[in-house]
Amino acid sequence: MEFPDKPLLHFMCHCSDCDLLWNGAYMGFVYPTDEVSIGGEKSNFKYSAGSGLILEIDFCSHCGTKVASRPEIVDGLTYIPAGFLKNEMEFSPQVEIFAYNKYKCFGDPETLVESFDHNGTLERISAVIEAMNQA
Ligand SMILES: [Zn+2]
Repeated sequence: MEFPDKPLLHFMCHCSDCDLLWNGAYMGFVYPTDEVSIGGEKSNFKYSAGSGLILEIDFCSHCGTKVASRPEIVDGLTYIPAGFLKNEMEFSPQVEIFAYNKYKCFGDPETLVESFDHNGTLERISAVIEAMNQA
């Protein structure tokens, strides 16, 4: 895998799809799709997310581990699960979406900058990224 040193965001999603897909919540880093490369043999599946738009997930063809996801609702961004970079970077969630559906045990991490009760559109997420880069 190759990534820029610094992700655009440390991100969590508490939606009911992620609850099932990632077993609790999605936790990961957000990168521009064209700056990420993931080697190895991958398979891919797509489904219609709650927004009605497509969510695409790459997974290892051998063990099934999910390695990346690309929600159409934020076209141009790729999400990499936090576990892949655990040795390189401390996961410090900055934005969470679908907070209404969050497990109470997650609490409110002190690194959180924005918490959206429902979805994070490209406009909302872009605004947060922009604000953080000006800070
Ligand atoms: Zn989700």
